[in-house]
Amino acid sequence: MPELPEVETIRRGLKNFILRKKICKIEVLCDKSFIGAPPKGIVIRIRRFGKALILDLDNGKSLMIHLRMTGQLIYDGKERYAAGHPSENFTANLPNRQTRVIIYFDDGKLYFNDQRKFGFIKVIETPEVENDSFIKKLAKEPWQMQAEELYEKLQRHKNSCIKAVILDQSIICGLGNIYADESLFMAKIHPLTKSGLITPAEAEKILLSAREVMEASINSGGSTMATYVRADGTKGDYLEKFAQVFRREGQPCPRCGHKITKIKVAGRGTHLCPRCQTIPKDNVIHAQKNSAPTSRKGTK
Ligand SMILES: [Zn+2]
Repeated sequence: MPELPEVETIRRGLKNFILRKKICKIEVLCDKSFIGAPPKGIVIRIRRFGKALILDLDNGKSLMIHLRMTGQLIYDGKERYAAGHPSENFTANLPNRQTRVIIYFDDGKLYFNDQRKFGFIKVIETPEVENDSFIKKLAKEPWQMQAEELYEKLQRHKNSCIKAVILDQSIICGLGNIYADESLFMAKIHPLTKSGLITPAEAEKILLSAREVMEASINSGGSTMATYVRADGTKGDYLEKFAQVFRREGQPCPRCGHKITKIKVAGRGTHLCPRCQTIPKDNVIHAQKNSAPTSRKGTK
């Protein structure tokens, strides 16, 4: 599953290949993967709402693309550029049995591959994009939200722990597990802190930290998680370069040198520095005791 920074990376990568190019034909190989009548037209804009990509055409139609679990976009022209769930498809002869839709441009083809068929492309009238049920229900992203608004939302969920609240996509859009841990580490807030105890200044810190870690990830090409890669098919290196705590249990905290630990919060593996991210006494949701620093790797 891509996180928001990966989809933004794909959006930026695709711009180099299909922006201002004309769609001559769309071939639908799997009915489930394409909703609406295939349009023609020039791609005049590539937008992103949450994890949905939108290609706006010059004739008032838009294509909404959801990659979901196993979706891939592979542009094959003078060069090949591949984005999404990595597999041998990135270098294979296409189309193959996982190809669901082929979008023909003047000078290349964009293959939509999707092994498990959870992803899809949908045709929408451009003025209706923002009224689409999926897009309408998206909460604001950290860049769009003001600190006061986040603070208010935290007060409304004051008995839930802060990590669970910022992972809730109906409250704030875009923070997956990695970015939630990294944001709370940067803001020096313990993930089990009750949301009702977060001060307005801390709410602002969380928001600024979220923007910073996500921007760092976008600039380095997405977080990869071993399952996501850049639009040109190479791997991003967010985890190696920028992650301070995520999947670093047992290693020294880059800020204070204390050992990073891993606990379970809201059902998710959670990484923190117990010295930098202190727990307000008696006001914390109880941690499910599980993972010692030596716990098995590979879980999120
Ligand atoms: Zn520390």
